[in-house]
Amino acid sequence: MDNAALIALGEKYVMRTYGRYPLALVRGEGARVWDADGREYLDFVSGLAVNSLGHCHPRVVAAVREQVGKLIHCSNLYWIEPQVELAQLLVENSALDKVFFCNSGAEANEAAIKLARKYAKEHRGPESYEIITMRRSFHGRTLATLTATGQEKFHRGFAPLPAGFKYVPFNDLASLRAAVGPRTCAVMLEPVQGEGGVYAANKDYLQAVRALCDDEGLLLIFDEVQCGLGRTGYLFAYQYYGVEPDIMTLAKALAGGVPIGAMLAKEKAAAAFGPGDHASTFGGNPLATAAGVAAFKALLEEGLVENARVLGEYFYQELERLAREFPQLTDVRGRGFLLGIEIDGPADAVVAACQERGLLINSLHGHVLRFLPPLTISKDEIDQAIAILKEALQEVLGQGAN
Ligand SMILES: *Cc1c(COP(=O)(O)O)cnc(C)c1O
Repeated sequence: MDNAALIALGEKYVMRTYGRYPLALVRGEGARVWDADGREYLDFVSGLAVNSLGHCHPRVVAAVREQVGKLIHCSNLYWIEPQVELAQLLVENSALDKVFFCNSGAEANEAAIKLARKYAKEHRGPESYEIITMRRSFHGRTLATLTATGQEKFHRGFAPLPAGFKYVPFNDLASLRAAVGPRTCAVMLEPVQGEGGVYAANKDYLQAVRALCDDEGLLLIFDEVQCGLGRTGYLFAYQYYGVEPDIMTLAKALAGGVPIGAMLAKEKAAAAFGPGDHASTFGGNPLATAAGVAAFKALLEEGLVENARVLGEYFYQELERLAREFPQLTDVRGRGFLLGIEIDGPADAVVAACQERGLLINSLHGHVLRFLPPLTISKDEIDQAIAILKEALQEVLGQGAN
């Protein structure tokens, strides 16, 4: 099937929950993808921060091939070898002590919300259940996680929403302090906000949030579903800040493209869950966790975190250079390979113009261009992307110095 045929069938049979680009991707290798008409693209979307190892990383492909012929699924009524192995890898390489596996970012955050409530009921009092989250945050689309998401547009039409969430502006300690009360049980945030428009926390802010949580006996939950696993140039975003969360959630890049989610917790918080408190049929399943073990080892052993830190800085500077040429580009922000440009102009038209020239990027809220290259990207590929972006900006904005 070519693009047109596939799109026509999709419009007929698939529920319309996504605004999709008129393109079907059928194959990928490294930082390149091909559409159903055979056109090639440089992929700076990376399945929305999922394909951090590039497409079809050989170690992930080999691990999946091997596991799929051995044991695809096994109930959590039994111990699962790759699940235990991935948990060990995550714990030994982070500040957290125990792992619960699930299948997505939203599920990981659901698990975090449940654990925080259970812990607070035991340690802070039966009326402690409220979780303070940030404006412009994104935590998922299930009822609880969309309520945790501090963006009203995601709430509209779904009332009544679950009780127990309160929002404060990001990077504003006074507002957070004022919002804490006897009902508060936890603070939940993304160290670098992704879907909300690419906003990084300030270092002194996160450190003060940690101190506030310690003073008040609150759990601190970091949603690293997008910013974790090397994306910001650190294995986990919290490492840059020198602030350890009590609970951390992961998903997206964790299994190199195979669906997975994980909720990690310090021992004291993890102890609030006992057998029967939480579960997921597919969570930690052999196929997903075998892919996870291969993906995590590749991330650790192939210098990819370092690449995101070093080339992320280079990419950032190249974007800043473009911003000096085009006055409509008003802000460059983010960390590592989670970068955004604020554009005072039609962001969607820039995305389309890039696509025509063979570069995939995406936009947020109609005014932010977001860049999520694979962590394997080379300097040469960044230069190619910058050259295409510049042409697209010239076409759409009709100017640019040279
Ligand atoms: C993508 C994302 C989620 C939701 O993950 P799903 O796998 O789509 O449920 C949650 N939090 C953050 C920060 C995300 O970027």
